[in-house]
Amino acid sequence: MTSRHLLIVFVVLLGLGPLVLPEFYITLLNYIGLYALVALGLVLLTGVGGLTSFGQAAFVGLGAYATAALTTATDLPAWLLPLANPWGGLLAGLLVTAAVALLLGVLTLRLSGHYLPLGTIAWGISLYFLFGNLQFLGGHTGISGIPTLSIAGIELRDGRHYYYLIWAVLLAAVWLTHNLLDSRAGRAIRALKGGVVMAEAMGVDTARTKTIIFLIAALFACLSGWLYAHLQRFVNPTPFGLHIGIEYLFMAVIGGAAYVWGALVGAALITVLKQWLQDLLPQLFGATGNFEVIAFGLLMIVVLHRARDGLWPWLVRWLPEKSALAERHRDAPPLPRRPVPAVGSPLLEVKDAIKQFGGLVANDHMSLHVNAGEILALIGPNGAGKSTFFNLVTGVNPPTAGEVRFMGERVDGHTSRMIARMGMSRTFQHVRLLAGMTVLENVALGAHMRGKHGVPAAMLHLEREEEHCLLAEAARHCQRVGLGEHLQDAAGSLPLGKQRIVEIARALAADPCLLLLDEPAAGLRFMEKQALAELLKQLRAEGMGILLVEHDMEFVMDLADRVVVMEFGKKIAEGLPHAVQSDPAVIEAYLGGVE
Ligand code: ADP
Ligand code: MG
Repeated sequence: MTSRHLLIVFVVLLGLGPLVLPEFYITLLNYIGLYALVALGLVLLTGVGGLTSFGQAAFVGLGAYATAALTTATDLPAWLLPLANPWGGLLAGLLVTAAVALLLGVLTLRLSGHYLPLGTIAWGISLYFLFGNLQFLGGHTGISGIPTLSIAGIELRDGRHYYYLIWAVLLAAVWLTHNLLDSRAGRAIRALKGGVVMAEAMGVDTARTKTIIFLIAALFACLSGWLYAHLQRFVNPTPFGLHIGIEYLFMAVIGGAAYVWGALVGAALITVLKQWLQDLLPQLFGATGNFEVIAFGLLMIVVLHRARDGLWPWLVRWLPEKSALAERHRDAPPLPRRPVPAVGSPLLEVKDAIKQFGGLVANDHMSLHVNAGEILALIGPNGAGKSTFFNLVTGVNPPTAGEVRFMGERVDGHTSRMIARMGMSRTFQHVRLLAGMTVLENVALGAHMRGKHGVPAAMLHLEREEEHCLLAEAARHCQRVGLGEHLQDAAGSLPLGKQRIVEIARALAADPCLLLLDEPAAGLRFMEKQALAELLKQLRAEGMGILLVEHDMEFVMDLADRVVVMEFGKKIAEGLPHAVQSDPAVIEAYLGGVE
């Protein structure tokens, strides 16, 4: 039995539910479906994208109140009359939610670390009180008399009818989210957890990507609110408060925040447990009260200690092994390549670049150039300013003064994303891979800029052809650097030396003309170093320019066409490898008399 068979069994069982289950369980399942829809948004936003939100209940409220207000109002202005029905309510809810989410997104998504969750708490509370204080929303008493839904002439009169709608919507949302995550756009979302610097270096617009997942999560919540309002036929502010927002986050985390099915597991577990504990605990303690809240708090702590990734990864251990990924992409046509600059033509020209961190001058009037088809080694003791120079060239930390030209164009002041697009790729001294993602997917992230399909196409899987090409390209680069056996291994499971090679493959997947490698041979064994040297020579022969920072002198001297030596942020020597090696200043400063 494969995962697909299990899914079919699950859907069939779901479909049979209302025919066999008593009313009580149908109600319970309806609520699980509604909660899971919100938790699914949090999987995308928090579990995958790494942005924690406590405020999703407010978006559920927007969805519920929009339709409640429109379908029950008696004195609407004429222009709003076309919206005075459940479908108009849905449309209005989605539009209002999108507008509010975009506004809140602009205001809060820039906040980093714990400021973002605090920001979501702030607007979660604000919207909750807004619902309670607006007279046309019925204040704290709320709005009653919301009409039932009718679909294709069938009126949804009771929970059993709503059951099918709720679960169809939820399964559709699961499908869309699943598709999205398995795509170029999905890799961009997952790249957010690798940090802004890495993601932007791959050409991912991180601000835009964050906004998109925030929007999707808000719209899922809004949809849940709309369904809730018509199921319940009554709304008041209570279910849209902050503590429910926290409960949604509980669901996602306990179920497994990084997995689409985790949302369902979490919603089911919390809902059933809550029901059960609400009956049991007051009997146990002989007093009434919301004891289940305390139990949830304890449960959360246990989960965070024992199963940080939630229950889903723990459950799937009993599921049948995923069938080996069919290599559908093997025969995909190659992606178009950028024109290769003529060997010897200037790629990178840096003039008098200065980088200051407060009082520290980490790069002091640095000048160098790299031509197509040559390897320039940049060496110097630790702290000399080599990585700073990389960041300055790649747009991560623009120079304080001086000039950087790439392909003849001034690029100081360009964002790293713009520079990457022009054909400059890099690796990081401290490896920045997505440890949980496969080697193939990590490398495919490098080819991000060579695809164009966005989120809508990805959600509907209309971009399969392009995706196959991207994966095929990634696979080719993996093969080329000798990672052919590791395509489906989690990148984090490889030894550090191999992870550096994955970074090189990822950089190559962008089809660069200039490659910046920050200590690529660190942690490699002798044979691996030789293979790497062979690869770099091949790339050079193909016309690639390579700027290489490396500590292994034997490796550098054998490979480099020219060498630039730095000390205390300054260039102290430049020339052919053997000339530099015998330069007294270099021996004094860099080799420190060791040799
Ligand atoms: P290298 O790569 O040659 O070992 P780095 O470029 O990493 O050297 O560092 C050069 C100097 O700049 C070091 O003294 C380092 O502490 C400092 N430095 C690097 N990045 C920053 C930063 N973001 N803020 C402040 N100081 C920094
Ligand atoms: Mg460094």
